Order: sequence, then structure tokens, then C-alpha cells
Amino acid sequence: MYDFIIIGGGSAGCVLANRLSRDPSHQVLLLEAGPSDDTPLVRAPMGMVKLYESPVFNWLFWSQHEKSQNGRKVYCPQGKVLGGGSAINAMLYVRGNAWDYDNWEAQGNRGWGYGNMLQHFRNCEYNENFDDEYHGREGTLNVQSLARPHPHAERMLLAGLQAGYPFNPDFNGATQEGLGMYQVTIKDRQRCSAARAFLQPVMARPNLTVVTGAQTSRIDIVGGRAAGVAYEHDGHLVTVKATREVIVSAGAFNSPKLLMLSGVGPRAELEKHGIEVVVDLPGVGQNLQEHVDMVIGTQSRIGDTMSQTLKGMAQAVIGLIQYNLGRTGWISKPVVESGGFIKSSDQVATPDIQIQSTTNLFKDHGLDKTVMKQYGYSMHVTLLRPKSRGQVTLKSADFRDDPLIQLNMLAEDEDVKCLLAGVNKGREMLAQPAYDRHRGVELFPGEHVQSDEQLEKALRAKANHVYHPVGTCKMGHDPLAVVDDQLRVHGVDGLRVIDASIMPTIVSGNTNAPAMAIGDRGAELILNEQVD
Ligand SMILES: Cc1cc2nc3c(=O)[nH]c(=O)nc-3n(C[C@H](O)[C@H](O)[C@H](O)COP(=O)(O)OP(=O)(O)OC[C@H]3O[C@@H](n4cnc5c(N)ncnc54)[C@H](O)[C@@H]3O)c2cc1C
Repeated sequence: MYDFIIIGGGSAGCVLANRLSRDPSHQVLLLEAGPSDDTPLVRAPMGMVKLYESPVFNWLFWSQHEKSQNGRKVYCPQGKVLGGGSAINAMLYVRGNAWDYDNWEAQGNRGWGYGNMLQHFRNCEYNENFDDEYHGREGTLNVQSLARPHPHAERMLLAGLQAGYPFNPDFNGATQEGLGMYQVTIKDRQRCSAARAFLQPVMARPNLTVVTGAQTSRIDIVGGRAAGVAYEHDGHLVTVKATREVIVSAGAFNSPKLLMLSGVGPRAELEKHGIEVVVDLPGVGQNLQEHVDMVIGTQSRIGDTMSQTLKGMAQAVIGLIQYNLGRTGWISKPVVESGGFIKSSDQVATPDIQIQSTTNLFKDHGLDKTVMKQYGYSMHVTLLRPKSRGQVTLKSADFRDDPLIQLNMLAEDEDVKCLLAGVNKGREMLAQPAYDRHRGVELFPGEHVQSDEQLEKALRAKANHVYHPVGTCKMGHDPLAVVDDQLRVHGVDGLRVIDASIMPTIVSGNTNAPAMAIGDRGAELILNEQVD
């Protein structure tokens, strides 16, 4: 019997566990399907490249065949470990644009404007470099600016400046627009995940119980109220009761799946799988949004980037030794260092394209390793505010089955046009003098791909995304809303969803820091409600 049961120890779930267990009178249970994060792979920043395909720490989801993408299935990695996405991600610390949050508030979600959300970002963050009106040192999530970026990252920045874009020293400050170096969630050259920042310091609290390897199979809803949950642990089914609240923080694919398995979702979908309907909520699993991404990969004539050549392999071994001896070298670095936020045209008010530069050739989510046999560099061009919407549905009523994911990326023409404009702008940067000594052949989309028609074909054949699914348990008061602006599930008492799935519209940037801020705000809403 617990006061609060949190399902999912990811970016939002770890913040919640920390905040709700601050009061020693609250008994808090955190259930995480994945294992503990106590492994060098999670700690070492470059460990990401292994975690990305790890069957132990990753759900390894794939989408359904995507009609708008030539029938391809698209890889959808998700963290399955204490820390969730924050334990396997690229560690970029980005909040999005202030407008994103003001827009949520303008849609009727009280208290979600940036004026208020800024405090939640600050509550989470300990920023090593900035201490001003936008950043602070009130939290335990270590954020730092890159001290010694790779020369290639600086080259990309210089090229951007040569192309006429402004330098921005802080994308999370007064303005988001411009190019610069990313801030990262790293501390002492080790990843600072939500688990490291928010759970590790409080693990000894006697009123906090954390169970890993515990996949929740169902939320029990009795008389319209979430009464407890069932989870599988070591092959056994365990049931626990919640006296106050059950909080679903299982991420944008698994949170709607769990609601549906528990009888909360679109009637037709539940009945299809023989699940008794507790609340007919048509929006559960709908409104899926992702940041669509196209990579421009260029060969390098100078061998100073990462590769799987003989020299590259030797460098990798040296890197391993350097990291083990003194946590230095390339393993101590994130995969993306420079980039920024630009506008696809003068008509848009805030940046709608993100640039992320990597020091290697990155093809097909990095799953195509053959391309790494040569030196090269990649520029990710990402669409920040897609209009296309996908959905998450059930494969069956069995909780062990993966959810069915239909991304529908690039289904809307507007998205194609905007990303296409972004790719052209990316190519303009790559054509600047800063790259003259290095530039080889553009391998993908390829130098022969020039007209809008050719580029659109390439987008449909090759565009992927940057692992930011959101929106499937959207906050609001419209027919597709799943939670209200207090994050309470419509129609069920004692049940909230608190994670990236509640975003009504995707933020214009990476989603880890926003998920943590949502966790912090969610905790405040719960605690304030009790006081009232
Ligand atoms: C490869 C990759 C790279 C990324 N790079 C960046 C980046 O550089 N910067 C950035 O800002 N964002 C990045 N992101 C996105 C960011 O990490 C996520 O948006 C964020 O972690 C989402 O937080 P969340 O709390 O909504 O869900 P998650 O962090 O995914 O947490 C959900 C947790 O719930 C657990 N869970 C699921 N189902 C159950 C169940 N039934 N029972 C118990 N537990 C369950 C999961 O195992 C997981 O630990 C990246 C993501 C990936 C996958």
C-alpha cells in the first residue's frame, strides 16, 4: 500500500519520485520496467552509440509501414532503464521556444506559459556556466557548456556565421534563434541522467521504494478511481494499492498503451482487443508528433572525424584507454556539439528548423555502418513544428506486446515544404569557405538530388526523426484531450499522466529538459492539490 505509485522511472518519473518523497509522510513507489542504470555504458557520454541498439536498455520499437515514407518501417528507440530516455539520449539540454509554452497556455492550459515553466526548468537545473534570469543552480540536473568542442563542431559554427546566421551563446536564454554550441547534461565527464540527478541523491529515503525490472501490466480502476496497479517482476504478477494517486510516466509510446490496457481509451480500439471500457477517451494514443529529420552526409578529405577505418579503430582504442584512465578523450564527449535554430523563411516568427552537427557519417539512424568506413561529417536538419500527426494503438491485450506506432511523418505537404527549405539552408552552410579544405562528395541525399521534386523523393525515402515522440495523452479540454491542465486523466479519479505524452503540441527543440520540467510541474500540482 503506497500513497503514490509512479509508473516509469524516466525523465519525468525520476523528478516526480524525488519531489513526492520529499515529505517523509508520503509512501512512494517507483516502478521501472528496465534495469538499473549502474553501468559504464550509461555513465560514459559516448556510450550512447551502444545504448542506441541495446536490447537490455532500450525498447527497440519500430513503427508500422509508413505510407507517407514509401512504406518503410522507421526505428523508434526508447530508454528502458532507470532514467528512461535521459539515460540513453544525446544529452543536449534544450528547452524549446518560450512561444511553445505560451501557446499551450493560449489553448486554455492554465499555468503552462513560459513565465511559469521557466521556474520549473530552474528548479531542475544546476547550470555550471550561466547563473542569470534564465538559469540557476537551484536543482541537481547538471548542465554545462562544452569546454573543448571538436574542431569540426567549431567549423560548422564558423560556416553558419559565414552564411549570415547570428551567434547565440545560449539557446535557452533570452532568444533561441542562432547558431552556437549546445549545452549538455553532463557532470564530471559522465552523463547526468534524470536518475543520477534526481533519484541517486534520495535513494536512501525510507519512504521511497524503487523497483526495477517491474513492467506494469494494468492500472486497476475501481468505482471510477485508480486503486492500484499490477506489475510483473521476476516472472511473478504483483499487485499494489495506491491510497492517493497512480501516476503514469511511461513515455509517449507506453503511457497510452498502459491506459488502453486498463480500459481508458477509444472505445472501438479497446473493444477490438476485448478490453472492458472504463472510460471512452478517444484521444488516447492520438496526436503523436515527432521531429522529422533529414541528414546531409558529406565525405571529408581530411581524416579528423570519427570513422571505422583502421586509423579510426585505433583512435577508438586510444579513446577507451583515455576515458578509463582520466575520463578524457572522445568517449567523454556527446555525439552532437554544435548547431542551433533557424527559420525556414522570413515568414515564420520563431525558428522552425534545428541544425545538429555530428563528427561522423550518420546514415539510417546510424544503423547503416558501411558508410562509417570512410571519413565524413553529417548535418541533421530537423523540422521543429510538424503539422502531421500519427497514433499509437494496441497490437493485442497482452502487456508484453509492443504498441503499434504509426508516425505519419511528412503526411502534410506543409511539413515537406518546410523541411525541404531547411535542407537547402543546411546545404548553403555546408558550401561555406569554412569547409573548403575538408569538403568531399555529398553522399546523401547526394549531389544529383537538387530539384524540389528530387529532394521530396529523398525525404520520403530517407528522412527519419530524432526520437522525440510526444502528444499521445494530450493535455487540454477538447475532444482529443486525455488529461486536464492539472494532468488528471479525464473521467478517472486519482490518475494522472505526467511525461512528454501530455504535450498538446511538440516543443521547438529536444524534449528531455521539457519532460523533466513537466515532472516538476506535475509534482507541484499534486502537492498543491493536497494542501487545498
Ligand atoms: C536515442 C535518443 C536520443 C535522444 N536525444 C535527446 C537529446 O539529446 N536531448 C533531449 O532533450 N532529448 C533527447 N531525447 C528525447 C528525451 O530523452 C525524451 O523525450 C525524454 O526522455 C522523455 O521523457 P519521459 O519521461 O516522457 O519518458 P522516458 O524518459 O522514456 O521514461 C519512460 C520510462 O517508463 C518506463 N516504462 C515504460 N513502460 C513501462 C511499464 N509498463 N512499466 C514500468 N515502466 C515502464 C520506461 O522503461 C522508461 O524508463 C532522445 C531520446 C532518444 C531515445
